[in-house]
Amino acid sequence: MTTAHIMFGGNIGDVDKTFRDAEEFLSRNGVVFEKRSRIGSSAPVDCVPGTPDFKDQAFVISWNRSAEELLELLQHTEKLFGRPENHRSDMSRTLDCDIIFFGNEVINTPRLTIPHPRMHQRMFVLELMVETAPDFIHPVLNKSVKELFDALY
Ligand code: ADP
Ligand code: MG
Repeated sequence: MTTAHIMFGGNIGDVDKTFRDAEEFLSRNGVVFEKRSRIGSSAPVDCVPGTPDFKDQAFVISWNRSAEELLELLQHTEKLFGRPENHRSDMSRTLDCDIIFFGNEVINTPRLTIPHPRMHQRMFVLELMVETAPDFIHPVLNKSVKELFDALY
């Protein structure tokens, strides 16, 4: 079993319901949910006017297969909850599932970068991960989630 940290994001439709339904779907497909943050909201940055606020939620999970297989399942889940054909911004979406950490693994392949390359610069990621994993040490930066949050705050 690997302890991994994943993040949901979305800004179209009933996002709270999408997150609940996606969690249920993942639970039925081998993901064990250990911890969840609240659902946070953040204003869109660099998006077309009228883009709805983004919502995000951080999770700690257990998973007994590889990081690549987790990515495959998450991408399948994104498709299942589909984004509308006619959304106005490339960034608008019903569901985005990202892997932030996968144990202490450092992965750099064309399909997968772990730790997530922008997590330590994103307040909306760090403020939610402070709720689920404040003491987890970033395996490349060697700082805890709480330290990364304090550095940005
Ligand atoms: P973003 O999540 O940056 O808004 P997308 O979800 O559209 O953008 O990006 C998806 C691509 O990112 C996928 O093709 C996937 O292979 C790649 N990717 C690389 N690293 C990760 C990761 N840690 N978690 C999720 N997707 C990743
Ligand atoms: Mg993504």
